[in-house]
Amino acid sequence: MNSDSYSTSRRAALKAGIAVIAGTSVAALATRASAQSAQAAPASVAYQTKPNNGAQCSGCVQFVPPNACKIVSGVIAADGWCELYSPKS
Ligand code: SF4
Repeated sequence: MNSDSYSTSRRAALKAGIAVIAGTSVAALATRASAQSAQAAPASVAYQTKPNNGAQCSGCVQFVPPNACKIVSGVIAADGWCELYSPKS
């Protein structure tokens, strides 16, 4: 192998490595964006910042203390409620 073919194959290997790294980053971003978009918008599920007949987010299986929800986006109040409410057993 002469020095030209060595540098050509090294260049090709570097390009392949960069493509793999770039592809991995794009895949990670796509996964993250997909997870975020899987959450419903508060308005689309009639979210309100007060309880509904005694039912509230802090008693829902989807609530993530102190102020988030697994399936509804944004800041979620512990004493809020939405139509996806599912009581803890
Ligand atoms: S009631 Fe709705 S917003 Fe509140 S935790 Fe449950 S699913 Fe999330």
